[in-house]
Amino acid sequence: MPGTRTAPDFGIGSRPVWLHLAVENDMHADQERFFVGGVTWLDRVDVYVAHADGSQTAVHTGDEFPDAPGLIPAMGYALPLHFTAGRNDLYLRITSTDPMAVPIELMTKQRFEERRLLLGYFYGFFFGFLAALSVYNVLLFAGTKERSYLYYSLALFSILFCNFAYTGHGVSWLWPELPVFQRFVILVSMVVYNALGLLFAARFLALAKNSPGTLRVIRWVVGLGLGLMALAVAIGSQFLAALVAFVYMSAFSVGMFLLGIMSVLRKQASGRYFLLATFFGMLGVAITALGVWGKIPFGPHTFHAAEIGLMIEATLLALALANRMREHRDARYEAEQVARLDVLTHLNNRRAFMELAVPYMDSAIRHGRPMSLVMMDIDHFKSINDQYGHKTGDLVLVAIADLLKRHSRISDIVARWGGEEFILLLPETDAQQAFNHAERLRLAITEIRVPVQDRNISLTASFGIAQRTADLSLDRMIDDADTNLYEAKRSGRNRVCSNAPACVQIEQQSAA
Ligand code: GH3
Ligand code: MG
Ligand code: MG
Repeated sequence: MPGTRTAPDFGIGSRPVWLHLAVENDMHADQERFFVGGVTWLDRVDVYVAHADGSQTAVHTGDEFPDAPGLIPAMGYALPLHFTAGRNDLYLRITSTDPMAVPIELMTKQRFEERRLLLGYFYGFFFGFLAALSVYNVLLFAGTKERSYLYYSLALFSILFCNFAYTGHGVSWLWPELPVFQRFVILVSMVVYNALGLLFAARFLALAKNSPGTLRVIRWVVGLGLGLMALAVAIGSQFLAALVAFVYMSAFSVGMFLLGIMSVLRKQASGRYFLLATFFGMLGVAITALGVWGKIPFGPHTFHAAEIGLMIEATLLALALANRMREHRDARYEAEQVARLDVLTHLNNRRAFMELAVPYMDSAIRHGRPMSLVMMDIDHFKSINDQYGHKTGDLVLVAIADLLKRHSRISDIVARWGGEEFILLLPETDAQQAFNHAERLRLAITEIRVPVQDRNISLTASFGIAQRTADLSLDRMIDDADTNLYEAKRSGRNRVCSNAPACVQIEQQSAA
């Protein structure tokens, strides 16, 4: 039957086919041409030429031969043939259980060398790209112990290996003597890649937390794929292996895409990257798989589509991982911030106060600048709790905290010291200024009204002040402020005490 296509394909598990080409040599002399045909995984390629002068040539190759003659990685089988002047008949007999695609070209030696060089550069880049990304992600895993990176790296490595095998690099460089190995290695590595890809997706999308049902399905699918492939290898059925690998690959591509859609619908943060990445990966792999399977026309573009798609996918997934790393960091920062804030009042807690105060203190000491500390305690707070309940007590604490926030400068450090005690560190403030500030706060607090049931509660608070002197540490200042606070309580509450026994005196001053 005459054909018009330069790349006929016959699908998976095809019976052996014969192809016939009539080669017309218009020159008056013999011409040497490179026959470049097939894909690198064809089991057997028998080439016969009936020359115009009556002589014959026969060459037998295919990856079931150890050291398959003329196997050029990523190109196919390339055989130098000569054609005598006149009409030569080229007969090909192709045998393959794997997808049988048979692109055929006759080219000059120069063109063959050019093509080979170009493919060499392309695969150098492709393998280098995947290998570097794979190693990089192993290192990320070593550093972070986050398993997404490990699965991702292993998936990259397995796809690299699979490609290395199906382009014929493996059989021509690494295992030329192992045709049986070659028969299964491509198909097995396809399934391994898919399984690792699913495990990566499950981890990356945190399915254990977000969708345990989907995770169970994925574990099943991973087990099923690996199990069926193991069975195919065990019974030595290359046909079953090919069927499993290609059906699994198609299901994998669709499955990854669905997972991407699911994560976007759930508004998962990195879902969009994942969806976009898997879309490109799926598109590329689908084009190549359908091409070699014989469902769409086969050619260099369909053949390399998977590789291009994979590089785009790998890049986008690396971005997705980086994006997620940033999300983790932001979440941790937020958690740290929360750990430094008092839950009820949203003021700094004691720990945050100490961390913030130390550098201020150092700087004040170095530059000999004034600095004061105010310790404040609500008066008879216990009775508010007893009378109106703990909830109302909380409302009072929040009201006081808001007042302190409103009345403080940006450079002041305000914190809840504990219970109903608050502390303020006032940089660039001497004892008199601190006293004035505390007085203003004290008066403002007396004006607070907290509405409870049918009435308003009013409050008072007592203050103790300490000023930084040359030999005073932060802890000593806090002790001093506490002593003065005690003094304020002792001498009647609702007042400000600076360096006791100056307590009463300063108060009289301000009253005057
Ligand atoms: P004084 O004038 O001597 O300071 O008397 P006081 O009642 O204010 O002091 P005391 O230290 O005896 O009581 C403080 C109370 O504050 C006891 C505790 O139950 C209450 N308290 C501590 N933390 C909280 C809180 O977060 N919410 C509420 N509602 N009460 C709290
Ligand atoms: Mg109190
Ligand atoms: Mg108290």
